[in-house]
Amino acid sequence: QASEKESMYLANEFAKDYFNNMLTKTDEGKAIGLSYFKERGFSEDTINTFQLGYSPDSWEAFTTEAIKKGYQLEFLEKTGLTIVKEEKQFDRFKGRVMFPIRSMSGRVLGFGGRILDNNNKKAAKYLNSPQSEVYDKSKVLYGIYNAKQTIAKEDNCYLVEGYTDVIQFNQSGIKNVVSSSGTALTPEQIRLINRLTKNITVLFDGDAAGMRASIRGIDLILEQGMNVKVCTFPDGEDPDSFAKNNTEEDLLLYLEENAKDFINFKASLLIEDSKNDPVKKAGLIRDMVTSISKIPEPIQREIYIKETSRIMDISEEVLFSSLAQLSAKET
Ligand code: ATP
Ligand code: MN
Ligand code: MN
Ligand code: MN
Repeated sequence: QASEKESMYLANEFAKDYFNNMLTKTDEGKAIGLSYFKERGFSEDTINTFQLGYSPDSWEAFTTEAIKKGYQLEFLEKTGLTIVKEEKQFDRFKGRVMFPIRSMSGRVLGFGGRILDNNNKKAAKYLNSPQSEVYDKSKVLYGIYNAKQTIAKEDNCYLVEGYTDVIQFNQSGIKNVVSSSGTALTPEQIRLINRLTKNITVLFDGDAAGMRASIRGIDLILEQGMNVKVCTFPDGEDPDSFAKNNTEEDLLLYLEENAKDFINFKASLLIEDSKNDPVKKAGLIRDMVTSISKIPEPIQREIYIKETSRIMDISEEVLFSSLAQLSAKET
């Protein structure tokens, strides 16, 4: 007798194969899903590596097939694959391209499903599996299963916002990449990376939301004693579009030239918008010291204080006393 969680994993595993089969073997899947992925530049290899899929545009095709194959409605409902309403059963995912979300060890925890028609304003662009015993969105990183070996080998992890950013980077040969999948980055997600490397490079979208999210992520990463770099993309671009529109060589060059240590990243924000405004400058310096105060290791804190003193042209004494004030407040 399988445990409840085990039964849920089995239902998800079946669903992953079902959706992948729909995508690669059926007329509807090929005409709609596969051509969508081809347009985005995903190869057959990529589709296979990430086990991408397609959920047919039907109210109950998946659920009917799963029950026929012996999967119990109870677990189809618990994973969120099936919605039961007034004793009727509906497929959660219909007419979407499917991204299975795996754990570090490769189990299918849940799915993200994307609409195909960008003009459809009524449906959410991405629909995810609901929170369940096996899927907690604050504890998963999309792509970790495929990325873990390369993260350890390269001793660095690229962190992006979306499913397609992970996939497009892989296709460009960069495999040490994971995504927080649209949720605000959590300590649990960072801890997963911390098991593999101490180095994270945050690559969020080139828009105001992406910028804010990168800034918020920095302190959380520093708190775990990790090193954080940030690389921004031109406005309107995300890692997916940038990787698609540039050669692998140009992509690598861009990352090399634009990934900044968090302290230089924060300093560059100042240079952009508050160069001659002392109030803004003071605010930003406080912000940099706040980030430094999150670093657990004292020697590292001192190195960053000296760095900040140099780039912001402020005495070390003032910065150290402001750091001491912050630390005093926290205890
Ligand atoms: P695409 O390139 O397919 O349009 P994206 O990854 O660039 O997708 P963003 O709008 O940048 O999409 O959002 C980043 C991530 O946030 C998505 O990959 C997805 O995981 C999540 N997300 C976006 N929109 C929604 C939504 N409406 N509901 C739930 N999650 C979402
Ligand atoms: Mn975005
Ligand atoms: Mn994006
Ligand atoms: Mn995108």
